[in-house]
Amino acid sequence: MKCTKIIATLGPSLNSPSKLKKALDNGVNVFRLNFSHGDIKSHSEQISTIRSVAKTYKRPVGILADMPGPKIRIGNFAKNEPIYLARGATCILTNRKVPGSIKEIPLEYEKLPSIVKKGDQILLADGMLELKVLSQNKKDIKCKVIVGGELRQRKGINIPNRYIPISPFTQKDREILKVVSQLDIDYVALSFVQKESDISKAKNWMKKYGKVLPIIAKIEKPQAVEHIDSILNVADAIMIARGDLGVEVPTSQVPSIQKFLIQRAAAFSKPVITATQMLESMTFNPRPTRAETTDVANAIWDGTDAVMLSGETAMGNYPLAAIKMMNSIITNAEENREFLQDVLPKESRTDADNIIHAASSISQNTSYKAIIVYTESGKTAISLSKARPKCPIWALTPSLETYRKMSLIWGVQSLISPKGKNVDDLFKLGDQNLIRHTMLKKNDTVIVIAGTGLSSGATNILKIHQLGET
Ligand code: PEP
Repeated sequence: MKCTKIIATLGPSLNSPSKLKKALDNGVNVFRLNFSHGDIKSHSEQISTIRSVAKTYKRPVGILADMPGPKIRIGNFAKNEPIYLARGATCILTNRKVPGSIKEIPLEYEKLPSIVKKGDQILLADGMLELKVLSQNKKDIKCKVIVGGELRQRKGINIPNRYIPISPFTQKDREILKVVSQLDIDYVALSFVQKESDISKAKNWMKKYGKVLPIIAKIEKPQAVEHIDSILNVADAIMIARGDLGVEVPTSQVPSIQKFLIQRAAAFSKPVITATQMLESMTFNPRPTRAETTDVANAIWDGTDAVMLSGETAMGNYPLAAIKMMNSIITNAEENREFLQDVLPKESRTDADNIIHAASSISQNTSYKAIIVYTESGKTAISLSKARPKCPIWALTPSLETYRKMSLIWGVQSLISPKGKNVDDLFKLGDQNLIRHTMLKKNDTVIVIAGTGLSSGATNILKIHQLGET
């Protein structure tokens, strides 16, 4: 079993039940639905398809709904085919309703022509193309192409030097949240988070809609990096959204920010996803570059919980090959544990922290087959995972939500096991389930972490235990 989790973004290249099944067979743990593309109805259908395919798997399959946020995008083209903007050519970005072409590119955000000024730099498609504003009026922005290239419809626009007055939590996000909070998903990702209140606001809206889902804060603005500790206090996980981050800050700063964010996430015991361009060249090629394979392995050794595929699986030519490649890079990186950074904070804050440190250090002895964590919310399993113990972690929980949430967490496998009447009963039921549903056998020696309170946050037991002993 690999420890690092794989997230695959769905799209035209990965849409049928048989492809989803192959993706799971090749190691995908979480499917990401990108609500920047497609409509709510088609995403809702995808959710039911994933759930029905996942039924036959004896492991959790997570679903992550990624909100569009205030990202401004170009609109659709006359045909859903890329256009080529040549260096030195002129083109018009317009809020008039036009079918996109090399001459006129429609804008989704109507106010943009009134915001930009002559001389501004406009970046398209995560900064792959660069335009310079020659002139503008209320409808059109006339631009010169400074860095040309291929452009697909609905790609993002960034104007690094201009403040764009859109709230990080948009009306469209609210409409989507209202629907998705009723659907069978596990995580919601919020785009362009800047501060803690962006997350609290989303949680308040979800409360109104009847279900508060775990929130992943996408870190893609310099303001979010600045406020990372307060964001980590309230978010359930973070995503290092390197695509937009590398446009919002100089690209050369992305590696150091990535390492910093992974370490801060560990300090707060929160899961962290490293995302975007991980195997970018596999969108069109059957093999990745050596730099890409090294990037994925380094993120794992730095302490990321999950690695994410975006365009590679959503619209690439080799979605399954990209997943297989990700899986084999993970396997190799995890076989070379000596490069794994120690990300666990040195000082323990609570009894539960002390127990987690102790369990992890006992697990260095190879005679223990697993660490069994009894957990309501998953919090103890997440904290234990940050200690990167050497043996497998089994999170046993009565909650289907927690069972599925574990799909994102490094090294954690999960199993539904009922609440016991008391601690002895809890362990007895847990042993029965472990022996019945996992590779663990009767009399295997394991390390057990649990709480006598039998409720969330009450971890106070550490036990060396033989499975099946009464
Ligand atoms: C990113 O910018 O890296 C990202 C994951 O966000 P999106 O794919 O929504 O642009």
